[in-house]
Amino acid sequence: MKKTLLSLAVVSALSISANAFTLGKLGNFEFKKYADNLYILPGPPMEPNVENEGFMNNPAIIESEHGLIMIDPGGNYNVGKKILAEVEKVSKKPIIAIIDTHKHGDHWFANKTMAEKYPDVKIYALQHMIDVSKAGEAQKWYDILERLSHNLKGTKEFQYPTIAIKNGDKLEIDGQTFLIHHPKRAHTDTDILILHVNSKTLFIGDNLMKSRLGGFDASSSILGNIKLLEDIEKAPELNLYVPGHGAPGKMHETIDPFLKYMKLLEEGAKEALEEDVEAYEIKPKVVEKMKDFQKWDAFEGQMGKHLQKMVEEIEALDE
Ligand SMILES: [Zn+2]
Repeated sequence: MKKTLLSLAVVSALSISANAFTLGKLGNFEFKKYADNLYILPGPPMEPNVENEGFMNNPAIIESEHGLIMIDPGGNYNVGKKILAEVEKVSKKPIIAIIDTHKHGDHWFANKTMAEKYPDVKIYALQHMIDVSKAGEAQKWYDILERLSHNLKGTKEFQYPTIAIKNGDKLEIDGQTFLIHHPKRAHTDTDILILHVNSKTLFIGDNLMKSRLGGFDASSSILGNIKLLEDIEKAPELNLYVPGHGAPGKMHETIDPFLKYMKLLEEGAKEALEEDVEAYEIKPKVVEKMKDFQKWDAFEGQMGKHLQKMVEEIEALDE
């Protein structure tokens, strides 16, 4: 009898680990409940790599009466299968809608996995996001993510968003209300912020990161990003703030760190311009003030580039 129980215990332990969404040494990942009908799967806040299989964002699901509404389903088709398996542990209802926050593939390439299982799913994004993705951004991100994670092979057809939305839109989906805000230029020029009215949750996309830094490309505006986060903090506090990468939480604990990081860039860039020195010359002094951020993923690789871009943005204001 004892032996039977023991072997049963071993079998069930194995089957649990076989089902869990495990990423190497990073451990297990699963959806956590943040509100009545809101679940988020917080990804590891780091660059895409082989160990995380290209999963590092925060896919979210909102359960409505007849289905699930998903925000930023994940970084590629393959890891999307693991994310979908986790979705099904939360609810067996069909995914009826997806909203993609911006053009970067680490947030939306798993559209393909979800659409394969639910061909009727409606996928929303900004028109400009759809346009630039089709015009080459998707391919660019495919190549970046494949090079870093080796997990995209054989999945080259993109599932683009199918419905264009714009700033100020109000989406009513199966009893759930979403307000769409598009800051012209912040993290990129393709971003939307999504306020889920029912749960008072604001999805900020990559306009907010915690514990990791990402790139600011030519379409972005760090000054625009600062203004956006300051405006959010001036508004009445909501229940939950969800960054594109890093832990969701209350207003100040979630937004303040990245805002402070960008303000330190601005301060450093202004000082460089006043003293008429190059960004790299002022960099050590700025790094010194960034003790809180030095452990953030990609700090080494990104901070100098951010400071340089900040200098260029401030210079451009005078032109
Ligand atoms: Zn991004």
